[in-house]
Amino acid sequence: MHPDTLVLASSNKGKLKELKHLLKPLNTDVKSQKEFDVASAAETGLTFVENALIKARAAAKATKLPALGDDSGLVVKALKGQPGIYSARFAGENATDAENNELLLDKLSDVPADRRAAKFYCCLVMVEHHRDPAPIVVSGVWHGQILQSPKGRGGFGYDPLFFDPRLDKSAAELSLEEKSQVSHRGIALQALIEQLQTKR
Ligand code: IMP
Repeated sequence: MHPDTLVLASSNKGKLKELKHLLKPLNTDVKSQKEFDVASAAETGLTFVENALIKARAAAKATKLPALGDDSGLVVKALKGQPGIYSARFAGENATDAENNELLLDKLSDVPADRRAAKFYCCLVMVEHHRDPAPIVVSGVWHGQILQSPKGRGGFGYDPLFFDPRLDKSAAELSLEEKSQVSHRGIALQALIEQLQTKR
């Protein structure tokens, strides 16, 4: 299956930049839902997969085009999985990345370095149309730990606080290219591309 046009069901600039970069090999006309004036769908699910499907379906319905939903976030072990699906709104409905990061550091202030394990999780759902009964569902995970203070100036969201011990760098110290090779979104997108190339 090879969609001529694919609508990205997100308004998050950081995500859109990464998704557009990662989708280049598909040679598909990738558009953001903003270009169609589609409002963000209410994320009423309790899991990443539910929310990714809600977003993809809403964008496909509004645009009448195939759509890709990305629901992703940070899962911190010492916080029993928080902020999880609430990553974007951890510090409140319209919280900034800086406010979310500050709250995360606050909640982990008594947690020592060896108990700051976390993972980024990304679920991608692609529907051909809003009533597609067989969406493509893929996911990716990136393991790391939460730093005591921000490091690096790239990326978005929690990137300055997310440290990858294998690379000895925070996510915000990686180039777009480097992050795409190891990130939750990069891994999920790779799986999506593989499925698209085999699905008829
Ligand atoms: P969503 O738009 O509801 O899926 O929320 C995603 C939120 O998770 C973002 O606003 C970020 O706070 C966080 N997040 C997801 N992916 C990343 C990433 O690659 N780096 C940093 N933060 C991320």
